[in-house]
Amino acid sequence: MSPQVHNRAAILARIDAARKAALAPAPSTTLIAVSKTHGAEHIRPLLEAGQRDFGENRVQEALAKWPALKDDYPDIVLHLIGPLQTNKVREAVALFDAIHTLDRPKLADALKAELARSGRTPTLFVQVNTGEEEQKAGVSPAEAPALIAHSRDALSLPVQGLMCIPPVEDEPAPHFALLAKLAGRHRLPLLSMGMSADFETAIRFGATHVRVGSALFGARAQIGASSGALTRP
Ligand SMILES: *Cc1c(COP(=O)(O)O)cnc(C)c1O
Repeated sequence: MSPQVHNRAAILARIDAARKAALAPAPSTTLIAVSKTHGAEHIRPLLEAGQRDFGENRVQEALAKWPALKDDYPDIVLHLIGPLQTNKVREAVALFDAIHTLDRPKLADALKAELARSGRTPTLFVQVNTGEEEQKAGVSPAEAPALIAHSRDALSLPVQGLMCIPPVEDEPAPHFALLAKLAGRHRLPLLSMGMSADFETAIRFGATHVRVGSALFGARAQIGASSGALTRP
C-alpha cells in the first residue's frame, strides 16, 4: 500500500471518530485531498483507493495535472482552495467543480459573467478572513454579509458555504465557531474548514469539508507553494 493510501485510511477513521464524538456534526464531512505540489504519480494511488475530492491552490498548476486525470476518472470533484484572479476565472470555471475563495465583489461579477457564458455551476464558498489578518485573502467578518448578499442574492450565484483559514498562531476553535455562526445566520449549508493540524476540531464545529494536505501526502517542499494560498493575489 502506498503511504498516502495508508494515511487516507487513518484520516478517514479519524474523521469518523470525530463525527461520532461531535454533539452536532454536519450531515456529512467530505475529505478534500490537497494535492498541491504533488505530481500525478502520488495522486493516482489515492484515486485507485476511491478518493474523489481533491484540492489545488493554483489554477496554472491544476491545469497541468488534472485534465488527464479527469479523463481517466470522470467523477473527480476538483476544489480550488487558493486565491483566484479575475483573469483566471475562465480557466478556473472550466476546470473546477467548487471554488472556495470568493472574497470580493469584483470576483463575484466576473464569476457571474463566466457562469452565464459557460453554463457551468461550480459550488461557491465565500472565504472569510476570520482573523482579520492584513496579508490574508478573504472578506472580513463585518463585510461578509454584504458580499453574500451581492453574490448569492443579487447575482444569484450558487454560493453554498463559507471557508476560512485561521491564523497559524491562534487556537482554531473560535474561528471555526465564528464561521459556523455566520453560515447559520445566512442559511449556508456548507463549511470548508479544518486542515491537517485541526480537522477534528473543525468537525466539532460542523465542518462539511476538511482540506487535508501534509497529513495525507507528507510535508511539502518549501517552494512558496503553500503560502500562495494564504496571501492576496
Ligand atoms: C495547503 C492548504 C491546505 C492543506 O494544508 P495542510 O496543513 O497541509 O493539511 C488547506 N487549505 C488551504 C487553503 C491550503 O492552501
